[in-house]
Amino acid sequence: MKAPEDAAARRAVTPVICYPNDTLPRPPMALYRAARAGAKKIGEALAAPRAACSFEVPQGCFFRITSVEGPQVGDLNLWNRNDLGERFYSGKTRALHGTHLTAGERMWSSLPHLRPMATILEDTLGWYGIDAYGGAVHDVIGTRCDPYTGNLLSGAQYHHCCHSNLTRALADHLGVSLAEAEPHVHDVLNVFMCTGFTRDTGQYFMKASPVRVGDYLEFFAEIDLLGALSACPGGDCSSEHTSDAAACYPLLVEVFEPAEGALAGWEAPLPNGYDGSHGR
Ligand SMILES: [Zn+2]
Repeated sequence: MKAPEDAAARRAVTPVICYPNDTLPRPPMALYRAARAGAKKIGEALAAPRAACSFEVPQGCFFRITSVEGPQVGDLNLWNRNDLGERFYSGKTRALHGTHLTAGERMWSSLPHLRPMATILEDTLGWYGIDAYGGAVHDVIGTRCDPYTGNLLSGAQYHHCCHSNLTRALADHLGVSLAEAEPHVHDVLNVFMCTGFTRDTGQYFMKASPVRVGDYLEFFAEIDLLGALSACPGGDCSSEHTSDAAACYPLLVEVFEPAEGALAGWEAPLPNGYDGSHGR
């Protein structure tokens, strides 16, 4: 296709940020950090390599995901503990915060709720930034590795993709069948995963995660949460996923409860203020 004469001028138009986020409510990070300083551990769960764990975090508590034993990426799903219909909305979170999340940013819930579910309090990989390839850590651009895409691309029957791991973990947690649990599994926050898009072809890429043993990502639970975390079969995602080829390690989830009164003055997120009438 021949480019028009004004092609260069059209390409030179300056981009506009779709969702300027300076009017988003700001999380009270100082209050959260002060509450976290006096918090006590109340539970933990371990996602075994190529498997997932589930965990609950009461509203106002904290949870930390730590890479233990070796470099490992995790696929995180979050639901409102009291209403599985409200779940993490990866696409809108990406529109609001960009392709990768770090401290001070939030995981937003699905429509019609659209409110913060969790706020990232600490990110020990926050120093990474955006590398020379355009890669960054903790993305909301990937979906979750799944056996259907694997089958489409290679004809494989592989059962330990994050999608299947999350499905089993949710089914076990709720005491329901796999068929009942599967539709609740959704696009993830790719914890510790280093990803971007190639400049020349626009393709989604991954590279070896910079995560090391002891690195963690910590969250404040804005609402009662049910979480599931899969230790991706891709390991550190330096080569491939959807197979047993990569070295894999567990991921630890720890839950912490602040001291009584430590969140005095904190206001829980309200349901979204849109009236829901859709013009009728
Ligand atoms: Zn995965």
